[in-house]
Amino acid sequence: MDVVVVGCGFAGAVIARILAEKGMKVLIVEKREHIGGNMYDYKDESGAYIHKYGPHIFHTNSDEVLNFINRFSSFFSYEHQVAGFIDGKFVPIPFNLLSIEMTMDNFKEIKDILIKTFGYGSVVPITVLMKYSDSKIRSIGDYVYEKVFLNYTKKQWGNNKVDETVLNRVPVYISYDRKYFTDKYQIMPCFGYTALFNNMINHPNIKIMLNCDFKECLKLNIKTSKILFHGKTFKGAFIYTGSIDELFEYKYGRLDYRSLRFEFKMLNKKYYQMFSVVNYPNDYDYTRITEFKHFTSLNVDSSKTTILYEYPCPCKESDIPYYPVLSRENNEVYYKYLKEAKRFKNLFLIGRLAEYKYYNMDQVILKSIDTAKKVLEK
Ligand code: FAD
Ligand code: UDP
Repeated sequence: MDVVVVGCGFAGAVIARILAEKGMKVLIVEKREHIGGNMYDYKDESGAYIHKYGPHIFHTNSDEVLNFINRFSSFFSYEHQVAGFIDGKFVPIPFNLLSIEMTMDNFKEIKDILIKTFGYGSVVPITVLMKYSDSKIRSIGDYVYEKVFLNYTKKQWGNNKVDETVLNRVPVYISYDRKYFTDKYQIMPCFGYTALFNNMINHPNIKIMLNCDFKECLKLNIKTSKILFHGKTFKGAFIYTGSIDELFEYKYGRLDYRSLRFEFKMLNKKYYQMFSVVNYPNDYDYTRITEFKHFTSLNVDSSKTTILYEYPCPCKESDIPYYPVLSRENNEVYYKYLKEAKRFKNLFLIGRLAEYKYYNMDQVILKSIDTAKKVLEK
């Protein structure tokens, strides 16, 4: 075995495929009973692909990423649109000029100010509006923050003291554009993510062990900086995509994550809501409802539809860590682990959990492609 990869999400599957194509023998060790990481999906009676770990929409500006994933699935163009339930109305999210018309009394004046200041078509982070020199712009920012961000963020993160980069993932559009993402390519796999992963790892040089926690066969010897595989020193590349604190047995404490409780419902109706995702910033305990039928390219003529409620929660030991909580304190702990990791010359960390970064799928794929080059250089 030349390479052992822990985890079969995009981070693990992409690097496994690249190295296998270079002639290396790769073993993937995955603790879940399925491949695909958080992208895993399956078809249910409604005829739609159900994303077991929450809605996953593929968006990227990278041709390299697009060319790579195109090898493993056909895709269809999918422009993600989200509505937010605000003051009894379903308004476009990201907040745009139509959202302003739908929720603010003096909308004409506000639209004029925004267009004059930023220019029609601009995309402005909420934190820029809230800190702007002009007090009128600041008060517009405060209004949008209060209606869209404040309570959603409290639900999602447990408080509203989140890193600015998190809030700025969802900017304000000074236009009538209602695409949720601004990327050049916005696509969905025609036959679901699981089929894509199946094709990706289907290579004679790749073997996979499911239902297997890496701790059953791999161990780091901290004293000698050696990796042990079934008790023997492993000199190949060890690619790790799980949580970095788990790898080092939490010696510097547990990293802070947020988790989610998913509640799926199959309804006896054709459709439940107008959009694939509706956000509920200010009402209910859940943050959003996803209806999966909207994600399919085919005209699914089924009398059933499946929806998903997402309830954010703290990440207890038995929960799945979905979101790294970005803060200076947490980064400090992360860097302690990273320093430790650097002592292992054949250890490579990739992905949302191992790098403790709020990565989208395309960022993880790019990181895997780059890391594969490093492995090959060694
Ligand atoms: P993962 O997909 O989490 O894969 C890691 C794998 O490692 C898992 O399969 C896990 O079981 C395995 N593993 C962990 N520990 C061990 C162990 N001890 N032993 C063996 N195996 C182990 N991104 C987008 O681009 N678009 C979206 O629309 C989008 N929506 C999202 C919605 C939600 C609710 C969430 C939580 C994330 C979303 N993301 C989205 C982000 C996306 O999920 C991540 O970018 C992606 O999952 C990262 O891939 P990964 O391989 O790093 O991690
Ligand atoms: N957010 C919000 N209201 C919304 C949408 C997003 O407050 O209607 C904030 C919230 O803090 C969230 C962050 O913006 O965690 C990023 O949103 P995104 O949709 O990117 O979250 P993800 O899909 O990654 O859960």
